[in-house]
Amino acid sequence: MATKRTPTFDSHNPATGEIAGTYPIFSAKQVAEVVGHARTASTKWQELGFNGRKKVLLKWSSLIINRVDQVAALISLETGKPISDAKLEASMAVSHIGWAARHAEEVMRTSYRAPGLLMANMSATVQRSPLGVVGVIGPWNYPIFTPVGSISYALAAGNTVVFKPSEYTPGVGMWLEEVFNEVAPFADIFTTITGLGETGGALCTSGVDKLSFTGSTRTAKLVAAQCATTMTPVVLECGGKDPVIVAADANLARAVDATIWSAMANAGQSCIGAERVYVDEKVADQFIALAVELAKTIHAGAPGDGNYGPATMPSQIKVIQSHIKAAIKDGGSCAYGGPESVQPPFVQPVILFDVPEDSAAMREETFGPTIIINRVKDMQEAIKLANASSYGLGANVWSKRHGKSIAAELACGMVAINSTFSFAAVASVPFGGVKESGYGRVHGPEGLLEYTYPRTVVRTRFNLPMSFLSFKRRPKDDRLVIAVTRWLKGRLG
Ligand code: NAD
Repeated sequence: MATKRTPTFDSHNPATGEIAGTYPIFSAKQVAEVVGHARTASTKWQELGFNGRKKVLLKWSSLIINRVDQVAALISLETGKPISDAKLEASMAVSHIGWAARHAEEVMRTSYRAPGLLMANMSATVQRSPLGVVGVIGPWNYPIFTPVGSISYALAAGNTVVFKPSEYTPGVGMWLEEVFNEVAPFADIFTTITGLGETGGALCTSGVDKLSFTGSTRTAKLVAAQCATTMTPVVLECGGKDPVIVAADANLARAVDATIWSAMANAGQSCIGAERVYVDEKVADQFIALAVELAKTIHAGAPGDGNYGPATMPSQIKVIQSHIKAAIKDGGSCAYGGPESVQPPFVQPVILFDVPEDSAAMREETFGPTIIINRVKDMQEAIKLANASSYGLGANVWSKRHGKSIAAELACGMVAINSTFSFAAVASVPFGGVKESGYGRVHGPEGLLEYTYPRTVVRTRFNLPMSFLSFKRRPKDDRLVIAVTRWLKGRLG
């Protein structure tokens, strides 16, 4: 009997181009089936309660960290990043699972609100309920840390989850599900589906109760449009062009060290990686000289060789190359490296300076191990230029005395003062952006509440001698409402 072969796709080792694994492409029908199973499991998962779910999630996080060598090898194979970076990423993911598991009950606790004078006989409460089934679509650059920032918070809140990892890192996605199923009390709480963009599209319209997307701004717009057809709410965590502001009073050695790491680690493939530096002209030459000195000590190479790996997605090399060329053509200069640094699949460190603000290299996400350093006359100019971007994800500020005041003026979702990436590692604070960097939040209480909905419950505690909300309302009741409203000047709450 002839059987219809399930279509598949391959993932690759980006350092060698060799096939790393072969995975099924889930069709829209299969996606719908998985979501259906997740919906059935959702009631039981909710009934398990906060404590029951906490135990499962903490066991899952223990297994991940106990098998960190295994998952780090897989992450490194599929992304090309060094094993030590993969381990750091896995540890950060584990700390988020722990935070979500331990804090879900407190974050979702029913809150009591003041009913106001006219409604003084009522008790007003807001309960929080899980949504049901949450769909998560992930990127490849941090294939465990990024999706777990949605998955663990959604699970802790009481939702079941269907996860579509990037087609570049399906193995990591499957591994996460397999390890979860070792501790799961029953099936279909957390399921991974594999496939290309179309499978992601099918998840958007599958009837999930919310879709949490992390990836490029271009795809985010497609995801939002697809989700709109089924009124599916979305969280969109997209790209960035993160600025670094360096004041004259900054600790330059530390600022350079963190900025070069932020820009080049993971081959520059970090949504919150430094892409543009605005440095006070009084210390700009010194900053550039220190940056070049440091860049000379790092190089790209296969895991075990380089400080960072290849471009995970081969097509990104063209974008990186075009930005380096655009920066030079538009009037910028190379302080270290240049077009010749692009040696597919690797890109060696590139430092550019004095690049005009309207260059594509300054406006678009490069997602490569390059950094542009521009001089500014003062911090007001730095703030203005930092904010003049279509993106608004993260930012870094380096100053001994003015960090907080500069941070307060930045139009972005997260700011690190005298550090970099730190806000991603603090589980209790929300992570996300504004403008084309997306909307909604992951991490922290705000990230957990994304996977819940508020249910308002207002209950009569005792009856008043008159009822305003009744056909029995009398003219004197009307007069009383107007008089009280006037007297309170609208302060009814
Ligand atoms: P991408 O947009 O190419 O893909 C992301 C995911 O979307 C993949 O799983 C892909 O299969 C899926 N997809 C593609 N087309 C789809 C469609 N039509 N409908 C539904 N799903 C579809 O992004 P990427 O290249 O994997 O990731 C890199 C990007 O992600 C960068 O822009 C980076 O800045 C961003 N990113 C953002 C954050 C954040 O938290 N803000 C974190 C990591 C990465």
